[in-house]
Amino acid sequence: MSTPNKTDKTTQGLRLVSYCPVCEIRSKSMNARTLAAQGETKLMHIQCHKCQNAFLALVLVNQVGASSVGLLTDLAYDDVVRFRSHADVSVNDVIGIHEQLEQGLFPVTFEKPRKTAVKKVLVKKARKKLGK
Ligand SMILES: [Zn+2]
Repeated sequence: MSTPNKTDKTTQGLRLVSYCPVCEIRSKSMNARTLAAQGETKLMHIQCHKCQNAFLALVLVNQVGASSVGLLTDLAYDDVVRFRSHADVSVNDVIGIHEQLEQGLFPVTFEKPRKTAVKKVLVKKARKKLGK
């Protein structure tokens, strides 16, 4: 029995992060960037070129093979980098934001474009299943 070389293991890991679970496309052109690495484990930010949804994936590649755990996120790569380097949110931070919102210092309406995109893909998949 031969032992897979490092390139084979890396390829297995890349294959895991080249699949979009939202639009079910398998593409080598997924935008995957490493956020952190420790030993055989990598934390990666992956964005689908087709539906633009992003995922955080914990990818483990070792002698046995490759596995991953993913989480759908609305964070861009730069957001993840920024939040990883910041300290935890304290109770005082929450109270401060609450006070500022009450004073109307943030007159911003929040949009949810990502949920709309996910909903469109899910509707498309449901129609496809029904043969429409
Ligand atoms: Zn996709």
